Amino acid sequence: MKYYLVIDEGTTSARAIAYDLKGQILAVTQHEFDQLYPKPLYVEQDLNVVLNATFKSINDLINKIGDDIISLGIANQRETTVVFNRKGKAIYNAISWQCRRTFKLCDDLKKQGYDKIIKNKTGLEIDPYFSATKIYWLLHNIPHALDEARKGNLLFGTIDTYLMYILSDGKIFKTDVTNASRTMIYNIYNHCWDDELLKIFDIPKTMLSEVCPSAHLFGYTSKMSIFKKEIPIFAVAGDQQSALFGHLLINKGETKITYGTGCFILTNLGEKPLEIEQNLITTLGVQYDDKYNYVSEGSVFFAGSLIKWLRDNLGLIKTAKESESCALKVENSLGVYIIPAFTGLGAPYWDSKAKGIICGLTNGVNKNHIVRAALEAICYQVKDVLDLLTKNNDFNITKISVDGGASSNDFMMQFQADILNLEINRPDNIERTSQGIFYLLALKNGYTINDLKKLNGQYSSFYPLMDDKCRIELLNGYKKAIKKALTEHEKI
Ligand code: ADP
Repeated sequence: MKYYLVIDEGTTSARAIAYDLKGQILAVTQHEFDQLYPKPLYVEQDLNVVLNATFKSINDLINKIGDDIISLGIANQRETTVVFNRKGKAIYNAISWQCRRTFKLCDDLKKQGYDKIIKNKTGLEIDPYFSATKIYWLLHNIPHALDEARKGNLLFGTIDTYLMYILSDGKIFKTDVTNASRTMIYNIYNHCWDDELLKIFDIPKTMLSEVCPSAHLFGYTSKMSIFKKEIPIFAVAGDQQSALFGHLLINKGETKITYGTGCFILTNLGEKPLEIEQNLITTLGVQYDDKYNYVSEGSVFFAGSLIKWLRDNLGLIKTAKESESCALKVENSLGVYIIPAFTGLGAPYWDSKAKGIICGLTNGVNKNHIVRAALEAICYQVKDVLDLLTKNNDFNITKISVDGGASSNDFMMQFQADILNLEINRPDNIERTSQGIFYLLALKNGYTINDLKKLNGQYSSFYPLMDDKCRIELLNGYKKAIKKALTEHEKI
């Protein structure tokens, strides 16, 4: 059976997904792995473990449905940083995107006033999240690394680059624009690694891979690889941008929200980037022709994880799914609001000292009201980010598509539509990250965007039903609750 193979390199698992020519998923295999937490703030991944999980998933898939693979594509966790030698041996574990070890370096850079130049070139806010300070840390903390790098013996890659290097026996040293745009050393306007930034971060240019469009012939797997034959690699993209394309949101103003552990909200800005409200980032979308596509990105830190907290820390529910039936047992949250500021408050409040609260408690409140308030809290946070996205910009959000594990909650999707006063569309197949890569592979195999539209599957729609008065009252209540969580009340 002929199929397209998508490898999804996640943060805690590697998956192999087979798509047939009509975009139907034939098989999925998955192996999970643990991240490493050697010290507070440090998050790493053992690359042997990551590669093993990847190879096992590929092997399982081939054992199930054979190896008649048309082409191969990769979706990957973004920003996670690997420094390796020319034999493909990493000098240290991968530093995860979640790792905060370089926060002090980032603070120093901000104090020295580098924010503006970095934002103007990369579209990003200075933050440990992005790869640049992780590379700096590796070069300055692993013995001899800086010397070796200066001699041209070390290479940098995000997970896509490293995996292609391994699968091709060192022949492919490339990445795509979506991954490059998350490194904080790639100029998203001039479309090149930026010499001035490389100087600031003291990173030799010889470490850097060739940046290619997301749909592109990156090269072939080696006969010595797990595949034992040459298979063309035709698509690479970071997971969030891949999911945006996986909904075929290719026009300005089209937006997707992924509801997972956190929420990732991406809006297509079209071919011309805009001055974006501070604290939101501009990044590159997948590139499948000669045009560049800009995307605005905002995130909510605690979404599905808030539901997990209700389950694991408070014991209010046994499964995340049960949150929906609890919420539906009550008519409203009875004035209860939860502000999940477990690690401070993000956009648009930016108060790192804010503490989480549950407020509005009266003796009529039972656990269902609290569970409902938690689901509503996720929706309010999404609204805050979307408001920021549309503020001062020349587009309206026209279409919201959703995916991710928590988007299966119908109550939450309806409340989200009500609070945003916008239609929400959820595909029957919420697996959109790998779908984006499948679309890129199909484009390289002669399909047109119109062909892909026919493969996009069914969506269910949630229409806003709440009246304006009710929406405004709820939002006012939320604003008051936010005020209570902020360390300085006058911030809002
Ligand atoms: P990630 O990719 O970030 O690991 P997933 O997309 O797998 O996340 O979604 C899992 C998250 O969604 C978990 O945090 C879980 O608590 C939450 N979740 C899963 N199902 C539901 C549901 N029906 N209602 C609310 N939250 C849910």
